Formats: sequence, C-alpha cells, structure tokens
Amino acid sequence: MRKAARDNEQAQTIRAAVLRHRGGPLSIETIEMEGPQDDEVLVRIAASGICHTDISYVNEWYDASEGPLILGHEGAGIVERAGKNVKGFRRGDHVVLSYQSCGACGACRSGRPADCRDLYELNFGFRRPGGGNAYLRSGVKGHFFGQSSFATHTLATVRNLVKVKKDLPLELLAPLGCGLQTGAGTVMNSLAVKAGKSIAVFGTGSVGLAAIMAARIVGAAPIVGIDILPKRLKLARELGATHTIDSRREDVATRIRDITGSGVDYSVEGTGNDEMFRLSMELLNPGGTAALLTGASGPGRLPGGRKALSIIQGDAVPQLFIPQLISFYRKGLFPLDRLVKFYDFKQINKAIADSMRGSTIKPVLRISSSLP
Ligand SMILES: [Zn+2]
Ligand SMILES: [Zn+2]
Repeated sequence: MRKAARDNEQAQTIRAAVLRHRGGPLSIETIEMEGPQDDEVLVRIAASGICHTDISYVNEWYDASEGPLILGHEGAGIVERAGKNVKGFRRGDHVVLSYQSCGACGACRSGRPADCRDLYELNFGFRRPGGGNAYLRSGVKGHFFGQSSFATHTLATVRNLVKVKKDLPLELLAPLGCGLQTGAGTVMNSLAVKAGKSIAVFGTGSVGLAAIMAARIVGAAPIVGIDILPKRLKLARELGATHTIDSRREDVATRIRDITGSGVDYSVEGTGNDEMFRLSMELLNPGGTAALLTGASGPGRLPGGRKALSIIQGDAVPQLFIPQLISFYRKGLFPLDRLVKFYDFKQINKAIADSMRGSTIKPVLRISSSLP
C-alpha cells in the first residue's frame, strides 16, 4: 500500500484547542490528524499542564500569518498505537511527554539532548521531525515540542516519550514534562548544587517551586524564595524555602545580605523582570553561578569568577530525570500535588487567565476524561 494511502486510512478525528488570534481565546475544534508514521507513536492525551511558554505564545509570540496552531507541551497519556520501527512502547503504556530532540547530533549522542543542534526547529518548528504536518487537511499546525498536547490525541516519538508506571494518575504527572523538570533539573543537573550551599530562587511559580523542592532534597541552605505574591511565598516556605522575600515590600539585596552574611552561592532567575535579573547576578558570592531560565541575554563570565548560565529544560534527559522525580514524589520529597489545580479541557482559557493572575500555580487540563 502506498504510504499516503496508508496515512489517510489511519487518519482520525481528534479534538484540539486551536489558537487563531494573538491573545486568544483558544477554541476547541474538531481536527483531522494523520496516523503515526513508522517512527511515531499515537498517544491519547489524558491531561496536559499549561506552561509559561504556551501562554507567551498565545499573548506575545503568535503571528497569525503562521496559520492556526495547536499548542501544549506537558502532555501525559496512554499509547494507542506505535509505528512499526518503534521499540519499547506498546498499546496501553502510560507515558509522560517531554521536549523533542534529534538523537543524532553530537550533543544528543553525548547524552545532552537539551543542547540538541536542532532543538529550536524540533520544538518550535510546528512540523514533524522528518518534515510535514499531520494536521494539514484541517489547515492547522501542531507538533509543538513534538507533542501539541492541547488535544485528545497526538503523535510523539521515542525521543520525547517517557514510560511511567500505571499506579499514579497521569493528570498529576503531566507537568513533569517541562516546567517541573526545568526547575528541579536546574538545581540538580545544571547547577549541581551541593549540600550546605546557599541559593536564591527568583520567582516562586511552578518552575521556582520545583527548584526550591530540589534545593531542599540536595541539602542546600539557606534557600531563599523571592516573589511578589504572599500566597506563593507561603507555599515556598512549606515546600523548602528557609527564608522568603516579598520584593514589593522589602529590599532584596539588604535581606539577602542579612540572611547569608554575604551573597548567595547560586541563584535561579525565572521572573524575566529586569531588576531581578540584575540582582540574580549581583548578589552572587565570588565563584557563584546564576541560572537564567527566561532566555534573557547576558550569560557568560562575570567578575570574581562568577558565572551566568542560560538553562534549557534543566539539562535533563527526560527518560532518566522524570522517573527520578517520580521516585522523589513517592517518598514525599517532591510534593508536586501541592502545585497543581485541575480544569476541564473546555476551561482552557480560564486556566490560562488564572495562571497569568498567579491564582493558580500549575494548571492541568483534564482532556480525554472531560470530553463526552
Ligand atoms: Zn540532537
Ligand atoms: Zn514549558
């Protein structure tokens, strides 16, 4: 059978949240999606987290001339069908979806997929890893981060699938694929924070809170959380921050010097705010390292042997790191359930608004289960 004919035969009707206008709203539409190619896995999405990158795309980055898009990159679901070249996944497996990488470049072969040569194209290119678009017949684009998980079904590859045990709810595990992996990975992998070292975390949203939980696991002290929302600072203290600073009411530099007697050995900057960005580097002890998560410019060498690193996905290999985070969760060390709030799929625009307001830390959409 010719390949095109086979793809048509396996095509299926899915429901997906489609972005057609900058600023939204997203609309849930019926879309035709081709079946899996030989290297792809068809996954029924149970749930998807909403990450800051999705929201930035909706509100700032989207250009309507690109055509309508399906976003979403913190999916979790159940394998429905695997292409014939796929090894290690079969129908019924529970999976968490993470970012895409090529598997063939020097960085991927060295076990550093976050440095993949094709990282941008594979995650933001809105096309299949091998080229093409499985949603062409409906005139929309997907394959965002190799998943586009704001949909009932998606096509992924073994490079961005992580098999997980079936005893934990998929809706709880969904946000591990990007935000929580990034926060925890920054502390454990990128910075490799040592016990007894001081750390300041600028921004206590889901990424910052994951960084704080990871800092507690590795024994960092003191752990200082900085934010402008008292509710989030309270949660930061409950999850491991030894001190918190409300940067609207207190002088961050003075408070950090009071707490540590000097500066901090590590900082994690996730706010994107210019002043916090500057402080995350200025308040470092000599030899200290700042991890910059918002893609702002400025990484490099700073005076006094200080360093600034621009971090992607916490330098995590998802297939190794996500199971590690799940085992921390099982031991009560990484209580990610404290961060999430669940929404039905059709409430996606409310979930985005709540996240922007800060009233919800990590929104998770219940997808398959919330549709008729
Ligand atoms: Zn690569
Ligand atoms: Zn993300």
